[in-house]
Amino acid sequence: MLDFLGNLQRTHTCGQLRAADAGATVTLMGWVNRRRDHGSLIFLDLRDRTGITQIVLDKDLTPEGHAKGEMVRPEFVLAVTGKVRRRDKDVINPNMPTGEIEIAADRLLVLNDSKVPPFSPAEEAIGNEELRLKYRYIDLRRVQMQQNFELRHKIALAVRENLSAQGFLEIETPFMTRSTPEGARDYLVPSRLHPGQFYALPQSPQLFKQILMISGFDRYFQIARCFRDEDLRADRQPEFTQIDLEVSFPQQETIFAIVESFLSAGFRAAGIDLPTPFLRITYDEALRQYGIDKPDLRLPGLSDIRVAFTDEDLKALLVDPALPVVAVRIPKVGELSRKEREDNRPLFDAKKGAKLIDDWKRLEKGFPEAARKARELAHAEEGDLLVIVAGDSTVHAEASDTKAAGRLSEREIWIYSAAGNLRVELAKRYASRHGAFAVTEQVVASPERRSGTPVAGGLAFRPIWVTDFPMFEFDQESKRWLPAHHPFTSPHEEDMDRLVSDPASVRARYYDLAMNGLELGSGSIRIHRQDVQQQIFRALGMSDDEAKARFGFFLEALTHGTPPHGGIALGLDRIAMILAGAPSLREVIAFPKTAKAIDLMVDAPTPVSPQQLKELHIRTVLKE
Ligand code: ASP
Repeated sequence: MLDFLGNLQRTHTCGQLRAADAGATVTLMGWVNRRRDHGSLIFLDLRDRTGITQIVLDKDLTPEGHAKGEMVRPEFVLAVTGKVRRRDKDVINPNMPTGEIEIAADRLLVLNDSKVPPFSPAEEAIGNEELRLKYRYIDLRRVQMQQNFELRHKIALAVRENLSAQGFLEIETPFMTRSTPEGARDYLVPSRLHPGQFYALPQSPQLFKQILMISGFDRYFQIARCFRDEDLRADRQPEFTQIDLEVSFPQQETIFAIVESFLSAGFRAAGIDLPTPFLRITYDEALRQYGIDKPDLRLPGLSDIRVAFTDEDLKALLVDPALPVVAVRIPKVGELSRKEREDNRPLFDAKKGAKLIDDWKRLEKGFPEAARKARELAHAEEGDLLVIVAGDSTVHAEASDTKAAGRLSEREIWIYSAAGNLRVELAKRYASRHGAFAVTEQVVASPERRSGTPVAGGLAFRPIWVTDFPMFEFDQESKRWLPAHHPFTSPHEEDMDRLVSDPASVRARYYDLAMNGLELGSGSIRIHRQDVQQQIFRALGMSDDEAKARFGFFLEALTHGTPPHGGIALGLDRIAMILAGAPSLREVIAFPKTAKAIDLMVDAPTPVSPQQLKELHIRTVLKE
C-alpha cells in the first residue's frame, strides 16, 4: 500500500503557509500528527520541524486520497498535493501560525507507514524518561525538543560569530590524546599499534590551547567536546560541550569583557537581553555572603549577625562565640510550623559542628533584644523566614591545619557553607512562596522572546564573576594539596613566596562565572614560565620525574618563548539548558546518557568480540 515518491518535490514546509498563499497549489511532506475522521471528510495534521498544517481529504475531491486517508495512522509519512484555501471564520485556529488556512488535497502519497509509537510526539513530554531515551528519535520529534535544538543552534552560532568578530580563530584539537588533569577520571582508548598503550580522551583541550598560544595564535576558541568519567548528576554528562577559549597577553578583565560580549550575544540570540558588565565578587566574599562559590543572586545573601548577641547569649545558646553567626533569610515564606521545621531538618548538614537555630518564636522569648537586632541586621521584613546557623560549642570538630593567614579558616568555611546550602535548599522548597525563581521561568516562557524583541533578563538571569579562588585545596583522603582548578593556573604573583610555607593562603588567578546557582564556566590566567610551573608541580607533591613523565612535552614547550596567556571554558549545554528552561542537560543534548552513563538508544557500552580484544591486546577480567 505504500507509494513511491517518484519525482514529486516538496514546495513548502508545514509551518510556512499563510492566508496570503490562498489559491496556490502546493506539495507538503511530513508526519501525521493527528487524524480526525468525519465520514466523507478526513482531517490530517501534517507535521514537520517548522510546524503543522491541516490537510482535508474530501471524498468528492479525491476519492483515492480519501480511501488512503482512512488507512493512515499517526506518524505515517505522507506527501500531499493540493490547493491552499482559507478556513471558514469559525474554524480559524489563532494558536497555530498556519491556523487561517488548510490544504484541500487532491493527491495523497503514503511514503511510509509507522508502528504505533511507544508514546505520541504530539503530546507533552511523558514521564518515563527511559522510554524517551530508548526511542529518542521519536522523542526528538516533539515540538519542545525541536525548539530546544533550534535554540541551541542559534546560541552556538551567535557565539561563533561574536568570537570571530572579536578576532578569535576556531581551531580543532585532538580527541585521541593523553591525560589532561581536570579532576575527573579519563576515558581511555586502547592502541592497536602499540600494545599495552592508551590514548586518553581529553577532559578539556587545556594543554593544546595553551600550546596554541605558544604557537602565536593569540586568540583561539573552539566549541569543544570534553570527556570526563565521573559520577553523573542532572547537570553533568560524561561527554559535554564547552565554549573553550584562550587569549595571549590578557589581564583578567580582558577575559571577562570577551565572555560578557559573547554570552550576551548568545542570550540575545535566545531572545534575552543580558545586561553587562556582570558583577564581580571574590571567592572569600562569596563564601561570606552566600556560603557557596556559585551564588544564586535571585535571593538575599547571608547576613553576619554575630553582633546581635552578647557572649552570654551565645553561651546560653551553646553557640561557639569564635565562629560566625549567620542568618539565612528567605523572603515571604512566613513562620514555619513545628512539623515543617522537622521536615526541613534533613536539609541541614550538621556533620561538622554547625548548629541550626530555627525556632524563631522561642528565640524571641528567650532573647528578645538579640532576636530584634538579628532581624534588623538581616533586613528581615514582616513575613520573611529567618533561621540562624552558627558553630555548636558542644562539638569539637577536627579541622585540618590549614588556617590561612588573612583567609577564612576551615571551620568558618563549614559554617558558611552549611548556611549557604540551607539557603539554597529552603529556597527550592519554598519557591512558590518567595517567587524569586518564577521570574526566570516567566522570562523563559514569555511569548515576546520568539517575536524578535529581546526580553529584559536582568532580574531573571544573574551572572556573577567569582575571583581569587584559593590556589590549593587540602584533600583529607590523600592528605595532599590539590589544585583548586588545574595545575596550570597561575598563583597571584605576590603570594608566590608562600607556596610552601602557607599554601592555604595562596590565591590563584582563577575565576568562575556563576549564574542562578549554577557554575557556567571556569578559567584562569596561566603559568607561562617553566620555572614557576615546576614549582607548582612540586608544591602539589609531584616529583620532577613524575612531572616530566606526565607533562614533559608541555614543560619543554614552555621553554620556547611562551607568552603570558589565560582563558576560560563555559558549558554550552548548561547555557542551552538555562535558556530552554529545561530541568536537565538531557533536554538539550540530542543523544545523552543516563545517570549510569548508558546510551539507551544504541545500547552502549557493550561487550566487544574476542577478536577485537585480541587485536587490542586486551584481556578483560569480569567481577563475579
Ligand atoms: N580547562 C578548563 C576546564 O575545562 C577551563 C579553562 O581553564 O580554560 O574547566
